[in-house]
Amino acid sequence: MSKTHLGHTARKRFGQNFLFDEYVIDQIVSAIKPENGQNLVEIGPGLGALTEPVAEIVDKLNVVELDRDLAKRLREHPFIQNKLNVIEQDALKFDFSNLIDPITHPSHKLRVFGNLPYNISTPLMFHLFSFSDCIDDMHFMLQLEVVKRLCATHNDSLYGKLSVMSQYYCSATPVVMVPPSAFKPAPKVESAVVRLVPHARPPVELHDISSLSLVVGSAFNQRRKTIRNSLKKLIDETSLNHLDIDAERRAQTLSLKEFSAIANYVYEKNS
Ligand code: SAM
Repeated sequence: MSKTHLGHTARKRFGQNFLFDEYVIDQIVSAIKPENGQNLVEIGPGLGALTEPVAEIVDKLNVVELDRDLAKRLREHPFIQNKLNVIEQDALKFDFSNLIDPITHPSHKLRVFGNLPYNISTPLMFHLFSFSDCIDDMHFMLQLEVVKRLCATHNDSLYGKLSVMSQYYCSATPVVMVPPSAFKPAPKVESAVVRLVPHARPPVELHDISSLSLVVGSAFNQRRKTIRNSLKKLIDETSLNHLDIDAERRAQTLSLKEFSAIANYVYEKNS
């Protein structure tokens, strides 16, 4: 299949697979439900498949695009250029809190969406979680497997670090399934759009997010081992017993609440 769409040759290093199926595009825009006056931001607008229908509905849209040629096309777009705030930057490094106006609209949180480059989707999720206080909701097209990881709970086969951290920050729901044929060039895998809504209040009491990240990362790095072994540098068996957690269990069986109890223990031990 041709890699050129609307006169632009897709760049693999930027994870460019452009949506062109109008039915799928309509479904995604309906799931996002953009409204005028909202603080909307699209990551990776590309050739405008989602940007154009959203900009038809609203007066202002922030877009973050790394590809210099695509950013230029958007700044010169014949119909919607006046509505777009084009931010030519790496979304992985972008400070999303800059889009909140602390003086005039301090409570005007962000609604973030995008058909994300699959090669950076997991680090981008972690980057966005760190701005969850500034975000009302997010809608992202991702590889179906990543959507399943985001939505997995303990004992699911795809449950892992991304699932636990996602549960801490947000509720996650798959909203649209998308076949490879909806893109140009077509990716090799199925995709889906996920809706992520940051919790108003954290679902568990946690002293420190980096302790949770350390514990969950260590447990899943050796996911086949019992936590007695995988977490032995962080917590001993007696302390696990005090927390009412059996040291014979494996990472995949631990809930967010149990991981948080271990993380709080680790934090207290080291402070
Ligand atoms: N939204 C368009 C669509 O649905 O057809 C394009 C989607 S394409 C999968 C991903 C887009 O993200 C491309 O436009 C690509 O240039 C852009 N991109 C890739 N890496 C990026 C990054 N680190 N920061 C911002 N944009 C990025």
